[in-house]
Amino acid sequence: LTFLGIESSCDDTAAAVVRGDGTILASVVAGQTALHENFGGVVPEIAARAHAEKLDLCVEEALATAGLTLAALDGIAVTAGPGLIGGVLSGVMLAKGIAAGSGLPLVGVNHLAGHALTPRLTDGVSYPYLMLLVSGGHCQFLHVAGPDRFTRLGGTIDDAPGEAFDKVAKLLGLPQPGGPAVEAAAARGDAKRFPLPRPLLDKPGCDMSFSGLKTAVLRLRDDLVARQSGLHEQDRDDICAAFQAAVADVLAEKTRRALAAMPAPVLAVAGGVAANQRLRAALQAVAEEAGASFVAPPLRLCTDNAAMIAWAGIEAFGTGQRDGMDLAARPRWPLDQNAAPMLGAGK
Ligand code: ATP
Ligand code: FE
Repeated sequence: LTFLGIESSCDDTAAAVVRGDGTILASVVAGQTALHENFGGVVPEIAARAHAEKLDLCVEEALATAGLTLAALDGIAVTAGPGLIGGVLSGVMLAKGIAAGSGLPLVGVNHLAGHALTPRLTDGVSYPYLMLLVSGGHCQFLHVAGPDRFTRLGGTIDDAPGEAFDKVAKLLGLPQPGGPAVEAAAARGDAKRFPLPRPLLDKPGCDMSFSGLKTAVLRLRDDLVARQSGLHEQDRDDICAAFQAAVADVLAEKTRRALAAMPAPVLAVAGGVAANQRLRAALQAVAEEAGASFVAPPLRLCTDNAAMIAWAGIEAFGTGQRDGMDLAARPRWPLDQNAAPMLGAGK
């Protein structure tokens, strides 16, 4: 099987061509960082317009790179949610157009399923496994038992860790995206100088909270600035080290609990925050402790991309999923079948 994948749910416009054996024939990702950088965040209208402008080109480039025409494909997979609705709609409409014109089957994919199934694409991981999805917008544990069998074991009740890294970077005058900048500063810092809280570790279960950490960093900064009329470089590095250690400790301990609650032979991570070396080391240790192996796909497949969507489409197609011209774009779409149905979540 060979599928075209289309992704436009956030601020990356992407198209990819992937084969059922896991070969990625093409993966094109056009980011929008420059478009949003003066606004301090992704502006939905700007994102939707940019997706509408760039999607066709991404698809053309992906097909050209793969050296294939539509006639050589077996289906089209598109992110149908969750995400910024304007962007999701752009992708879904383009996919419907291509499907109608070519007669190819159409498969609507949950963006989170794309992330969650990535270890199968990159490392051929078998079901079941535990996935920790940690990105700028998400943080949750998923026990994955099949292409449509996800159990959510817990997640953040407020900010995602990537968002916290970005906000901490902003508070300390470091560049965006904050993750890499904070990690670099932390490498020069002393994680023990400033004690930061480990939110929700005293509560049972796998839920997490990161917004309090960000507030603690703000207080620490203001306190230092007031006492010594400025923040020295060493202070900043030490704060970054303390913050990073707190995030890693919380994620590691909650991962330990998730593995205890639903044991799995493999622990996998996805999302941009999975790039963090301190976090990777902590998770690797937790996996070893639990007798599980640790899988971290390459970063370009951990962050938003369309290869994961094509792959998730191939898997869903294998279970018989086919969507029609009534495929809905959903702003919200919980992966876990046990999750409470959400208002306005489509059908
Ligand atoms: P989502 O995919 O959930 O909609 P997103 O597109 O913002 O959100 P990603 O592209 O997966 O998320 O990841 C970007 C996030 O990862 C940013 O918040 C960034 O700061 C963070 N990040 C990147 N590298 C690192 C790192 N080395 N350490 C910590 N965080 C990092
Ligand atoms: Fe994503």
